[in-house]
Amino acid sequence: MQASSVYTGPVFEMASRQFHTVADHLDIPVHERARILMPKRVLAVSCPIHRDDGSVAVYQGYRVQHHLTLGPTKGGTRFAPNVDVGEVAALAIWMSWKCALAGLPYGGAKGGIAVDPRALSKRELEALSRRYMQEMIPFVGPHTDVMAPDMGTNEQVMAWFMDTYSMYQGKTVSEVVTGKPVDTGGTVGRREATGRGVAYLIRRAADTIGLNLDGATAIVQGFGNVGSVATLTLAASGVRVIGVSDHSAAYYDPKGLDVRSLDAHVAKTGALAGYSKEGLFDAAELLVQKCDILVPAAVERVIDEHNAGKIDCRILAEGANGPTTPEADDILRNRPDIFVIPDILCNAGGVIVSYFEWVQGLQQLFWDESEVNDRLNRTLEKSFQEVVRLSKTRGLTHRDAALSIGVERVLSAKRKRGLFP
Ligand code: NAD
Repeated sequence: MQASSVYTGPVFEMASRQFHTVADHLDIPVHERARILMPKRVLAVSCPIHRDDGSVAVYQGYRVQHHLTLGPTKGGTRFAPNVDVGEVAALAIWMSWKCALAGLPYGGAKGGIAVDPRALSKRELEALSRRYMQEMIPFVGPHTDVMAPDMGTNEQVMAWFMDTYSMYQGKTVSEVVTGKPVDTGGTVGRREATGRGVAYLIRRAADTIGLNLDGATAIVQGFGNVGSVATLTLAASGVRVIGVSDHSAAYYDPKGLDVRSLDAHVAKTGALAGYSKEGLFDAAELLVQKCDILVPAAVERVIDEHNAGKIDCRILAEGANGPTTPEADDILRNRPDIFVIPDILCNAGGVIVSYFEWVQGLQQLFWDESEVNDRLNRTLEKSFQEVVRLSKTRGLTHRDAALSIGVERVLSAKRKRGLFP
């Protein structure tokens, strides 16, 4: 990284370190690396809104577009208090490798606002969402950069984004955003896609290591979109979910939790806290309890050098982006007892079905849910096989294999196209 770069912080450093590890494996010359790693462009905006008490508050927002080599850029929008430009850039870079691994015609992008969305009223959240999109209008578009949900945003926020963009164009442009509600141009199966994809890949990993899912145990960190759908899908396959946590509470019961009633509680109250007085557990300790399947589906850097040696699972399924630090990876490299499904493979279901939503929106021809799910599973299956095969043939970890495929595809296109994108 150049000294003058705006991209700083531990999450960006992590994406950078991962890239250089695979660049070494791929023998990418040093002079070509910045061209592949550094984001193409970034927009930083200040978003003022009227608070309900009459005051004006200003929130910082960002959008990073990593590369334009394979098509428009694509990526989620995160509303969280600690969002900064380095984190957004890292998430955009991971999106690039993820899209390339899945064979999607996109570069990576990501956006975010430094805000706690839970601290805003619905009116304030709508005002902020609309203001952010309005600031982004010159920077995004259905053939330029397509937004989607991420942590702290949902279908409603996507509907406000799409509506604001459309108002300024004087016509409905639903393809500027994916993850919209189905009745405003979204696709069936998008809301569930990431969690379903996580569960599909866990099934494939279980087949590979000879683990019977019926009666297997799972612990899931994060009970939002990704974590809750993964939990419910795993439970429907006979998995006993023994631990769940979110920002507010953690629950653990080795006999198994009632995941449907947990889900109903979160749907009603917005968080796990207050579900029950029984089974409350320490959130950090939950990650190192014995289980067959561990699913971090919340924030970055939760598996680090302190707990990587202690986690006690057979499958580590990374629903979140960047849950495992490079220091933890160095420890996991020497733990062949754990089958890691790396984030850019494990949570790719979201962007894959976002791609389906974009394609359907451009054609105005909509598919039924079984077609969406079949295509999702086929796309994930292909990536899963490619990653496992490359890991075996080159002796790489699953993460390095997945990243190598993504990076190599972007590099190959850049070498053919030239310096512009
Ligand atoms: P969400 O906002 O729906 O849910 C986030 C969950 O994480 C909530 O339950 C929240 O309480 C919990 N959480 C927040 N901070 C936590 C902490 N410190 N410890 C434990 N739990 C915490 O977000 P989401 O869409 O489910 O995204 C979760 C992760 O999955 C993120 O890393 C995101 O980038 C990644 N992801 C999401 C999608 C998608 O389609 N939504 C796709 C790919 C990857």
